[in-house]
Amino acid sequence: MSQSSWIRKMFEDGLRLKRELGDENVFDFSLGNPNIHIDTPDRFKELLAEVADDVALGVHAYMPNAGFPGTRKAIADYLSEEHSVKMHIDHVVMACGAGGALNVVLKTLLDPGDEVIIPAPYFVEYRFYIDNFDGIPRIVPTHEDFSLDVEAIAAAVTEKTKAVLINSPNNPTGKVYDEDSIRELAAALQEKDRRFGTDIYLISDEPYRDIIFDGIKVPSVFKAYAHSIIATSYSKNVSIPGERIGYVALNPRIGGAKTLMDGLVLSTRILGFVNAPAFMQRVIEKMQGVVVDTTIYQTKRDMLCEGLAAIGYRFDKPQGAFYLFPRSPIDDDVAFVQLLQQKNILTVPGSGFGRGGYFRIAYCVDDRTIANSMKGFEEAFNECQ
Ligand code: PLP
Repeated sequence: MSQSSWIRKMFEDGLRLKRELGDENVFDFSLGNPNIHIDTPDRFKELLAEVADDVALGVHAYMPNAGFPGTRKAIADYLSEEHSVKMHIDHVVMACGAGGALNVVLKTLLDPGDEVIIPAPYFVEYRFYIDNFDGIPRIVPTHEDFSLDVEAIAAAVTEKTKAVLINSPNNPTGKVYDEDSIRELAAALQEKDRRFGTDIYLISDEPYRDIIFDGIKVPSVFKAYAHSIIATSYSKNVSIPGERIGYVALNPRIGGAKTLMDGLVLSTRILGFVNAPAFMQRVIEKMQGVVVDTTIYQTKRDMLCEGLAAIGYRFDKPQGAFYLFPRSPIDDDVAFVQLLQQKNILTVPGSGFGRGGYFRIAYCVDDRTIANSMKGFEEAFNECQ
């Protein structure tokens, strides 16, 4: 709790400011909660009504812990196409969002003391998820431009390394790890596997896979590395984080698939989820490949980047997701975030994501918030010069 207290503090400060000043006078870029401002696709709304109409006996029943076979088949077919592999339902376990999926994977893989390598900056909750199962996070910084530092990852591998956990498009940077770096990472892990006689898993957390800009492609970990596992959700690409629906997918080439699958199913059962929500499984069975209009995010990214660049902020333009991770104009990112807060702008210090000297802006907000915040961003920047 003490390690996560800064998140709670941000949240509480935000609530207090909104109470005092009114929602419209607070520029809240603190949370990646898209459904507040970004609507779900029309097809999702149609399917909600359609699925709700079916009230036959059995639709609310327990099911195999892995999820409805029909839903898993739809996902396996979709992924077979997307990754040019041959998947079937025994490679897919439905999960309660990407967070649920990651916990199920880590419970299945980790013995106490096993190490998980995480490139930084990283999603804040990873450390807690790994700690849930007495694993040890090994944080490895990315390069200056947030691309993977494969050499540093390879140097961090020990005989206790059970997995490398990557997230691309990345929260908090919006970086997409390119095909070369994924291929190099795969080669480095294979080499370490040979050296240590281990099977290091590459866990790819991909909830932002579909939110990409400028025609960029997110490379397939399934093509690059046999021991790979995808954990993902519909929270961001369909804008339904409150519905808690996602899945774990195993690379069909993974070794020991049957045992892994048994572990994933048991973990789902005993972590308290029992199974992913039945209603949402029935909805998403029929909407593979349906995604929010991502040009909305690209427009917001451009608006934010143009505004901040004109003021003098320095950043790498995000290639996906809906986060911008600029350099703080002063070294102390916590102090800078506090200064922004005095201008009623809520952001998150980079040190919380394992990279001090930066701050995160979650721009899944309405355009007005971006436009009206620029004055405060400018004042804060100028006060630091
Ligand atoms: N992984 C990353 C990188 C995220 O940014 C998030 C949520 O913000 C999650 C996992 C958790 O997603 P979900 O809400 O689907 O559990």
